[in-house]
Amino acid sequence: MKVRNPRTGKYDYELVEDIPEMVQKKASQIRAAQGAWQAHTIKERVTVLQEWLGSFTEFQIEIAEQLAIDTARKRISKVETDGIIGLMQAWAYRAPQLYHPPAERTSASATTVQIGQQWVPYGLVGVISPWNFPLLLALIDTIPALLAGCGVLLKPSEVTPRFMDGLEKSISAVPALAAVLKLVRGGAEAGKAVVQTVDAVCFTGSVPTGKMIGAVCAARFIPAFLELGGKDPAIVLEDANLEVATDAVLRSCAGATGQACQSLERIYVHENIFASFVEQITRKAAAVTLTINPHEGQIGPLIFEKQAKKIQEQIDDAVAKGATVHTGGKVENIKGGLWCAPTVLTNVDHTMDVMVEETFGPLIPIMSFSTEEQAIEWANESIFGLSASVFSTNRQKAIEIASRIEAGAISINDGSLTNKVYDAEKNSFKESGINGSRMGDAGFLRFFRKKALLIQTAHPETMANFEENTH
Ligand code: NAD
Repeated sequence: MKVRNPRTGKYDYELVEDIPEMVQKKASQIRAAQGAWQAHTIKERVTVLQEWLGSFTEFQIEIAEQLAIDTARKRISKVETDGIIGLMQAWAYRAPQLYHPPAERTSASATTVQIGQQWVPYGLVGVISPWNFPLLLALIDTIPALLAGCGVLLKPSEVTPRFMDGLEKSISAVPALAAVLKLVRGGAEAGKAVVQTVDAVCFTGSVPTGKMIGAVCAARFIPAFLELGGKDPAIVLEDANLEVATDAVLRSCAGATGQACQSLERIYVHENIFASFVEQITRKAAAVTLTINPHEGQIGPLIFEKQAKKIQEQIDDAVAKGATVHTGGKVENIKGGLWCAPTVLTNVDHTMDVMVEETFGPLIPIMSFSTEEQAIEWANESIFGLSASVFSTNRQKAIEIASRIEAGAISINDGSLTNKVYDAEKNSFKESGINGSRMGDAGFLRFFRKKALLIQTAHPETMANFEENTH
């Protein structure tokens, strides 16, 4: 597969795809090693993770450089690799605290029976990840799954595959890890082969692909942990601090060129502050600089050509239906890269794609509301329920409104806090996802099945008790 460089538009990298037979072979190799991996104590697995932390640190610069080509983001790529080191450290500390199958005890309902409880990890977990944060989203489920004792078959996105070369070196340097963690290269076909062979799937990606994978997993009767798209709303109340709200909304909409699942994508502002909000955010958005020179600027080109096309289509659809563009407004080809400056839109409504479909770009469509009821109704008028924001100087009021928004995480007086806070459990609502939280303690605990050993200490009940008494 030829891979496009998002900065130059040139196809300058070749990805050799794993055919299904190769995926099968890797799965069998992991299965052969996973029993011994599971038999280790959690502390022993932590020791292996710490060795990986060492080799990852050794290859960090190389991985960050490859990631920077994949995503055309220099600083964020370094931050992404730092984030992985933080994740490894956090799970190395937390997982042993969490791994506590209850001690043997007497059953309360059958007092002659002793209960022994075991936690049994899924043998082989398939992790399939997207292109927007290629490294982080490849490892966010992988690390706790490995610590739980699972083997992992990991297939990152074919759109941003370069970082796999460095990552694979860091894995190979730790043989005990390399036996139970293998990378799969390729696109949908390789992904399908992964789903067909594993015992559980952790998928991060779009709703349509997630639904297909969920259906295959249902037919195979294996769990699917699906983390999918969003169309996150922000509600800005009349008493909000405008500096805070405009800074946070702009950063959340346009940071990483809007290519984050938890980006804010539709903004509802109280009518009394609407004009000031639009004026302030337009001024700030117009000042955002592009990283055309990779060593300076704030936002990079769009990573995925198809997404760039979708962003332009959403702008065109909105303008054709009467939207006003205050700043930005088009996807431009500059030296082969596809760039979109932060784009503030008003006179928008829910008949426009930009207000209802995921954008994954730096668009800031803003509607005004007159009552809180209306704002909440609009926020909930969506097939998505990933996350959201509420801005208000009245903490209690903000919490009340947040409680009524149908989404898994609500940032108050900020945007996209789920990209910073890893220790708060959250489930995605509606079509944004399904099954156990990847964040917080559940991110580790969901990889175990609970098994009960029921030990009879008295003579077992006999058939006599089952005799029908007709007298
Ligand atoms: P995508 O669904 O197109 O692809 C995701 C992954 O699935 C890729 O690795 C791809 O090769 C693989 N794939 C495609 N078809 C497959 C199939 N039939 N079987 C198995 N694997 C298959 O998504 P994308 O365009 O790479 O990523 C963008 C999407 O990811 C956005 O919708 C975004 O919101 C979402 N996302 C969600 C989160 C979250 O935590 N909820 C985080 C980041 C991104």
